[in-house]
Formats: sequence, structure tokens, C-alpha cells
Amino acid sequence: MRTFDFDLFVIGGGSGGVRAARMSAQRGARVALAECAELGGTCVNVGCIPKKLYSYAAGYAESFEEAAGFGWRLGEPRFDWNRLKANRAREITRLNGVYRGLLEGAGVTLIQGWAQLADAQTVQIGEKKHTARHVLVATGGMPFVPEVAGREHLVVSDAMFDLDPFPKRLLVVGGGYIACEFASIFNGLGAQVTQLYRGAHLLNGFDEDLRQFLAKEMTRTGIDIRFNCEIDMITRTDSGLCALLSRGQRVEADTILYATGRVPNTQGLGLEAAGVALDERGGVVVDAHYRSSVPSVLAVGDVSTRQQLTPVALAEAMVVVDTLFGKGPRQLDYEFTPTAVFTHPNIGTCGYTEAAARAKFGKVSVFSSEFKALRHTLSGSGERTFMKLIVEHASDRVVGLHMVGPDAGEVVQGFAVAMRAGATKAMFDSTIGIHPTVAEEFVTMREPMPG
Ligand code: NDP
Repeated sequence: MRTFDFDLFVIGGGSGGVRAARMSAQRGARVALAECAELGGTCVNVGCIPKKLYSYAAGYAESFEEAAGFGWRLGEPRFDWNRLKANRAREITRLNGVYRGLLEGAGVTLIQGWAQLADAQTVQIGEKKHTARHVLVATGGMPFVPEVAGREHLVVSDAMFDLDPFPKRLLVVGGGYIACEFASIFNGLGAQVTQLYRGAHLLNGFDEDLRQFLAKEMTRTGIDIRFNCEIDMITRTDSGLCALLSRGQRVEADTILYATGRVPNTQGLGLEAAGVALDERGGVVVDAHYRSSVPSVLAVGDVSTRQQLTPVALAEAMVVVDTLFGKGPRQLDYEFTPTAVFTHPNIGTCGYTEAAARAKFGKVSVFSSEFKALRHTLSGSGERTFMKLIVEHASDRVVGLHMVGPDAGEVVQGFAVAMRAGATKAMFDSTIGIHPTVAEEFVTMREPMPG
């Protein structure tokens, strides 16, 4: 029988790769992991973690304003961007070390460098070749920027954490997760933010009511959102950058962020030469067990074609670990994957939009509620909260749950468990609320919307 240097060779030390490597090693497999940058991938270094830290920073601006209504008298708050950047960098370095410690502690061989497939069971780093029974590609994704004149003047999300100096005027292009989150964050931190989106409503794919409600709230916080807008050209001027819009308008800015989607990182990995099929976005095509068209090569996370979310990559990695070194093949169920968008206020959502639920389940009942949270009776803020439930008529099952409001991600995580367990509207109704909270509204909505 052929022998291999490793049972599993993981290419990429992000969320999916680290989880797969660590857990496989803990189950006794001989594992190597190659990474050419810091451990932790997009999530730890230039994604979820620093983004959430900056979102917390931005949230203080509202808190300072709202404190007065509760009797606090504060001096003029001053924001120190350099201090935030330094504190974030320190925390991310700590996390890089935690990841290294976890991998080394589990007995994973860590290799620094750019890895590529030499053949279906050989990974090459520099001159050195390593054979492995299985190769897991977990190289994530990277920002996609469309062709635009003056492209050299724009930045992508990776650069937003260390901008120097702080942009007084920020122009954000895109209407997805990253665009909305950075628009909210920099608006909170004190920048004058303009957001341009080519469509008519932000956040394609989310529930229509929620999309419209969020745009109203983001506008209320001071973001200038312009719909049906595209940029023809970006130029540098004496006072910064200038974006020329296709309708003839101009927007001046210090920084222009393009948050126009992310594409899989598959270039330069030797995948196609090894016979690994890629889709039209360049992502690795995998089956339900994350095997590519080459049986010894698997892929999880953003490099394949499914939902680009850290917890999804982690869950996929665990399926691979169980399949290769555990109880055997199993499949991940992507239905009712909850997600949050860390705008101000947050979005939290689980399950089907109203339109998707109607298409899949036929008749549905819709419950929705919009209100001012108790906190804002004294805070002076005009912020409102929106909640919506979609119930399959035939089974009474709650198949969609959507929220725009404070800590929506925290609220929706718990409801996602109930929804995966098949909770019905009757079960929601028989659940006692926690009073006074915003979340209790989800168990007290009684009257469906007409129609
Ligand atoms: P998204 O796919 O969410 O959004 C991309 C945006 O760019 C859309 O509004 C899209 O418009 C627009 N766009 C695409 N191409 C062009 C173009 N050629 N010109 C102008 N606009 C364009 O991608 P993001 O980059 O925001 O995020 C990538 C993924 O990362 C997300 O989908 C999500 O899965 C994940 N993520 C998750 C987060 C979380 O969990 N909180 C946070 C950040 C990212 P249109 O809608 O019209 O196609």
C-alpha cells in the first residue's frame, strides 16, 4: 500500500482550515497545514473580528449622545483612531498566537509558505514536496473589484482597518454585507459617509421589508445612501478623490471603498493542472461531502461555492473531519443558517424571506412589528426596531425570522435553535416573554398581516 507523509494536508490557515487540521490531529491523523500569511484567515485578520471590534467602537458615539437622556453629563467625546488601530492590532496578534498554539498543541505540522498541488496527492511549498492521502483546500476568498477607470485610487475591505489618516469623507460602493457594515462603522466613528448602490434596495437576498427598513435607519443615522448609482471614473484631485457618477454627479471623498463581493482564492494553487474542477466564479466545485472532482482533494469555506460565513466554514470542516477520521460521511444541512449584518442597528435573520417562503411553501402567514424600544423613550434617539415572522400555513412552522434592531444577532441566534428544531407559531405563542426586552416581541406577535 502506498505510504504518505501525512494523512491530511490542509492548504490555508483560516477558520475552516484550522478547524479541520486541529480536529483531525486530535483524532490521531498526521496533519500538516500550510499558510503564507498570519493564521486565522479573513475572519481573524481582516474580517469578522476586527470589523466587530470597530463596530463596538462606532456604537459608543450613539451611547454618548443617548446618555444625556438618562441623566449623564459628559464632556465632549474625542475619538482616537490611532489608539483603536493599535489596540485592534494587539488583539489580532494575540489571536494569531492562540491559533498557532491550538494547532501546535494538537500536533499539527505548521508550514509557512505558498502551497500548491503538484499532483492529486502531493503538495509543493518552494522546492519541498509533501505527499498526503487527503488534501483540503481552505484558501478562502478575496475582494472582487469590477473594472473602473481610476481603480488604483480605491481600496478594498482589507485596507479599512489601518487607513492613515482617518477618512473624514468615505465613499462606499456596494450594497452587501461589507458595504453596509463599513458605512455604518465609519459613520459612527465620525466620517461623513456616502454609500452608492447600483440597485434599488440594499442587501440583495434579504427580506424586502427588512431591506427597506434598514435603509431608512441607516439614513436616519446620517449615511447618504444613493440608489441606482454607478461610478464611471475615479480621479485624484487637490483635495482628495473624486468619483464621477454615470448620471453626471460627482462625489468627493478621502477614501473610496469598493465592497462589491468576494471571489474564491484559487489562482496559483495548481488546482486545474491537478484536474480539480472550478465553477464560473473560480470556486472549487464540491459534492455534499466536500470532495472535488479529484477524490483526494476536498474544499471547505469561501473557496467553494456555498455561503461565505465563518460558522459555515467551521461546520463544513467538521463534516470533513468526521468523514475522513470519524464516524463516516454525513451531510450538512444549510437550511435555517442564521446570519447577522453588523450595521447600526444590526440585522439578524434566520430562514426564508417572505418571497422565498411563498415560493417554497405556498400559503404563509406574516407577522410583523415596528416600534420604538423602551431604551429610546429616554435616550432621545429616533431609532426604531423591526421584527417579522413568516409561518408556513399548512404546518404552522416558523420558517422565517427577521429583525433590525439592537443586538439582533444575539437575539436571533437563540431563535435559530428553535427554528431548526421545527418550532411552530403556537410554540412561539406559548413561550413566555422576558419583560421588558426587545426580543419578547417575537413571542407576542398575534395578528397576521392581511393578505
Ligand atoms: P455581497 O455579495 O454581500 O455584496 C456585494 C455587493 O456589491 C452587492 O450589493 C452587489 O450588488 C454589489 N456589486 C457586485 N458587483 C458589482 C459591480 N460590478 N458594480 C457595482 N456593484 C457591484 O458581498 P460583500 O463583499 O459585501 O461580502 C461578501 C460575503 O462575505 C457576504 O456575502 C457574506 O457572505 C460574507 N460576509 C459576512 C458578514 C457577516 O456575517 N456579518 C460580514 C461581511 C461579509 P447586487 O446586489 O446588485 O449584486
